[in-house]
Amino acid sequence: MTQMSPTKPRKKAAILCARQFLIENSIQILPIDPFIIARKKGWGPVNCVSFAKQEGFKGKDPLSLLCGEDADILSVNGSYKIIYNPFIKSRERKRFTIAHEIGHIVLGHFRNDKLRLSRGALSDEEYDIIEKEADFFACEMLMPLPIVKTMGLQKAEEIQEVFRVSKQAALNRERDLEWWGHFKIADELGPELLRRFGSYIKQFFSRTSQTEKELNELLRE
Ligand SMILES: [Zn+2]
Repeated sequence: MTQMSPTKPRKKAAILCARQFLIENSIQILPIDPFIIARKKGWGPVNCVSFAKQEGFKGKDPLSLLCGEDADILSVNGSYKIIYNPFIKSRERKRFTIAHEIGHIVLGHFRNDKLRLSRGALSDEEYDIIEKEADFFACEMLMPLPIVKTMGLQKAEEIQEVFRVSKQAALNRERDLEWWGHFKIADELGPELLRRFGSYIKQFFSRTSQTEKELNELLRE
């Protein structure tokens, strides 16, 4: 966030930013792995217990570093470090959490003011806005809508299986398809994304009854 704080979540910008991020980082296979992506970017992720050990925090509960959240971002030696709660059982929830934190970094929520790395520097309203923006980013990064549409996935169970997200996240995406799946934003940057994920999508369809010709038509744009 800059000095001019937004008054509502910038949903469209967050979604397009997630698609652009996938494109720029040449990510082309599903399910998307936010742990590998964060590692490649040099942002950790480090579990908070290891982090506390590394940094020599003694006599302090490592989870207290997270202030009750599943993860947080710290500024360490001038770069961002995502630390997370290793005791979260659900792999899907962990994946979403890391994608959400990547969203904060990529959306520039902390860019201009290091103080904002801590929640205390934000009003409740500001915090709520950046939380929603990071969620929009994470949903789109893990389940890009143009890909969900092209693959013809409509039911939460299918979405869950392909993108390895929680049932709730898949249900939300199923609802997104209904609510705004026909708007222009649902397809923006779609052709570029589909080119990137083309071989994966072909493989997916080769397990179904889709013919080669139908496939090429789907992916051609
Ligand atoms: Zn957050």
